[in-house]
Amino acid sequence: MIHGECFCGAIRYEIDGVLAAARSCHCSRCRKVFSGASSAYADLAESARFRWVAGEALLTTYTSQAEWGLGFCSRCGSTLCGLYRGAGHGITLGSVNGDPGIEIGMHIFVDSKAPWDHIGGPAPRYAEGPPPPVDPSEGSRP
Ligand SMILES: [Zn+2]
Ligand SMILES: [Zn+2]
Repeated sequence: MIHGECFCGAIRYEIDGVLAAARSCHCSRCRKVFSGASSAYADLAESARFRWVAGEALLTTYTSQAEWGLGFCSRCGSTLCGLYRGAGHGITLGSVNGDPGIEIGMHIFVDSKAPWDHIGGPAPRYAEGPPPPVDPSEGSRP
């Protein structure tokens, strides 16, 4: 079981299952949303179940004109999840308590990173979006 919460602890969630496709996006939108060099988030594995445990009423959403959005705590501002066209788009790795059991597997939109952003680690870097998903019949996923 994966547990997560916002900075003030009012909003808590749990995930029965594992996370997949952890990535860090260096685009200008993610810089603003995370007030940092990049975002760090992951998808729920297909079999994983997500559940708000506490404070869901404090969750506020914001959606940009481009239909990208986020869910954050209205008390402390901590970002918990991404949204795209109203549907969930990733869990922020920073909101997970302890080890999320996954590491950043790719850096995306590296061409638009901030001049002060220094990307480290062995994960592959992509100028723009992630490469198309690998056909599962062809072997392992990234
Ligand atoms: Zn909070
Ligand atoms: Zn981004």
